[in-house]
Parts: sequence; C-alpha cells; structure tokens
Amino acid sequence: MEQTTLKPIPLLDLQAQYKQIQSEIETAVIDTLRSGHYVLGPQVKNFEQSAGEFLGAKHAIGCANGSDALYIALLALDIKPGDEVITTPFTYVATAEAITQIGAVPVFADIDINTFNIKASDIEAKIGPKTRAIIVVHLYGQACEMTEIMELADRHGLKVIEDTAQSFGTKYLDKFAGTIGDIGTYSFYPTKNLSCAGDGGMLTTNSDALNERLRRIRAHGSSRRYYHDELGVNSRLDEVQAAILKIKLKHISSWNQARAQIASRYDIALSGREFQGCTIITPSLINNSTHIYHQYTIRLESNKLSLEDIESKRNLLRERLLAQGISSEIYYPLPLHMQKIYTDLGYADSAMPNSLLASKSILCLPVYPELSNSDQDRVIEALIKN
Ligand SMILES: *Cc1c(COP(=O)(O)O)cnc(C)c1O
Repeated sequence: MEQTTLKPIPLLDLQAQYKQIQSEIETAVIDTLRSGHYVLGPQVKNFEQSAGEFLGAKHAIGCANGSDALYIALLALDIKPGDEVITTPFTYVATAEAITQIGAVPVFADIDINTFNIKASDIEAKIGPKTRAIIVVHLYGQACEMTEIMELADRHGLKVIEDTAQSFGTKYLDKFAGTIGDIGTYSFYPTKNLSCAGDGGMLTTNSDALNERLRRIRAHGSSRRYYHDELGVNSRLDEVQAAILKIKLKHISSWNQARAQIASRYDIALSGREFQGCTIITPSLINNSTHIYHQYTIRLESNKLSLEDIESKRNLLRERLLAQGISSEIYYPLPLHMQKIYTDLGYADSAMPNSLLASKSILCLPVYPELSNSDQDRVIEALIKN
C-alpha cells in the first residue's frame, strides 16, 4: 500500500534540467529558427569555439552524433580494412561498431574491475603487427590511465582515439579527457552529461592537419563545395542543437560538481554494506582523474558465491529498488566480445573475465544534478535496508 504513495525516482530526469534553463533555451531556439541558418552555420561555429576553449582543445568539430564521431576519427587516422584497433569490450556497442564499419578488426583488451576502464597492461598484451590504433573509453565519467596508455602508444607508434561520450568535463592531470590522444569523440545524446534535444556529437584535436581532415570528412570529403578530395560522410551538427549546447555548456561544470556531491553521499552511506552475502563496492577513483559520474555504478562482490549467484543477487537488488519506485540500470549486461555480432571474432566468454564479472555484478543508480537530498536518502535506504 505504501508503494503507491511513493514518487518514482527515475535514473535520469531530463525535464528537471530543462525547467531550470527553459526560457533561455526557448529564446535561443526561436532565434535560430528565425535566422534562416539551419546546419553548420554561425551557432555551430560559436559552439565549436566555446567547447574548444572550455576543453583546452585547439580544434572542436561538431558532427551528427557520437557514433559518427568515432567513424570519422578512424577515417581521418587512415585506419584501413584489415587493420586492428584495440578497444574495451565493456562499453556501448558504438565504440567497436565504428571499427567494424571501417572494415578494421576490433581487438578487445579487458578492463580493470575497480574502475571498469580498459587497462594499459591488457592493451599492451594485445598489440600485434596489424595494430594501428587504440580507442579508449572513459567509462561512466572517469578517465582511463592515460599516462601509461599514451606512453605505450608512442612506443608502438599507435594512434589514440578517446571516446569521451560519457566524460565531458572530466580532468586527467592538467588536461581534459578527450584532449590527450590524437582525437577525442563526444556525444550529446539526451542522456549524456552535456546533451542536446536530439542527436549531436563532436570531435576534438590539437592537430591542424587532423582538424582539416575531420572537417572535410564530416561534409562528404569536401572543403570546397562540389569538389570531393576524399571519401567522407554526411554528419552535420544542426544550428538548433548547437544553440542549445552553447547554453548548457555554461552549466556543465556545476552540473558535474553536483553529480560528484551526490556520489560522495552515496559513497559514505553505501561503501562496504552487505546485500544477501555480497558486499556493495562503491566506485573506485584513480589518482590522476576526476570523476563526473555520468553513471554512479556499484558492484556486488562475493568470493563465496558463483558468478550466476552474484548475478541473481544483483537482479534481485534491482527488483527491490523498483518495488520502491527507484529505477536503476545495467550498463552493460553483455560485453561486446559475447555479442552475437562478434561471434566470428572467436572470443570465449572467459577471455575477458573482468568485463564478464562487471556485466553480471554492476548496477547504475540514479544520479543527476537535480536529484534531491530526500530522494538520495530514499535510494540509500532502499539499498541498505534490504
Ligand atoms: C553514447 C555513446 C556513444 C554513441 O553516441 P551516439 O551519440 O549515441 O551515437 C559512443 N560511445 C559511448 C561510450 C557512448 O556512451
């Protein structure tokens, strides 16, 4: 009976964010609609400039979405059919899909179970004569160990793409995630920390030569209208999305801080708690990176239970939360090396033990800047009272 009176707590509440900036956004959207410029116009240029300045990247290039950004990055780095690109199997499918679409082969390297990010030592073990590049993914809002990764990439002559779709504003040492390797890619899909009202994406680079190529490739390989110097794609950012992004960019630091504050409350309340014979492990931080908590991800750990039993406890915990109106999510339930589309790559399930373990034991909790203290308390109570 009590349940029916409880307000649902979603994983993410986009309307709450919209309400804060509604009039500014609506004015900007109407102005843009009236301007007569709809794609790759002054708003896009303006946003590219601001985003580049914010991130300390020499160039920022808008495009249609984060998946395209990865594909365009691989084209610009001259990755060819048959080349191998090392990446993580514990990510959204788009990361590896871009490699496959180029005709190259994704080679998976396992994650660190504490950070859920690809490990430098696992990358190094996968380097072979056909390896050309690495795509790291700064998962959930924390950067990968970039010092080690850049060092080994330099040593082996490999290009580095940073999939920063989940980490806009994360800092690694004195740089922003996405500006350390050759190219950074970003997504502004509505659920990302910095998001638009539809699809949007971006690339960053500090190289003038790559900037030119990225801009050309996003517009059908053309830098002069109707003259096509190389094969490209149609991947334009539109003016309305750019106008919205420009406004939201002003808030991203405080939004990211608000998420981190919620995370620290969760950390204190949840760390080391038990759920049916499992220990709740809160997110681990590495020394050199900040964490912007695109997701706040806990993990259930037990050295007594089997993987299947841990998975069923995790699923039970998720159901218990839902019974109290609290949404949670499993990002991601099946690592890429076990996906049907990648059976031909021939990986055994056990080839990526940490990715497999993560997929069966993690749970992402509600975290967004507008999540009230009392709702945070409800999430905490629901987790520790079970
Ligand atoms: C969202 C996401 C993408 C894809 O971005 P889209 O804008 O949806 O195409 C790629 N990689 C990661 C890690 C993502 O989270």
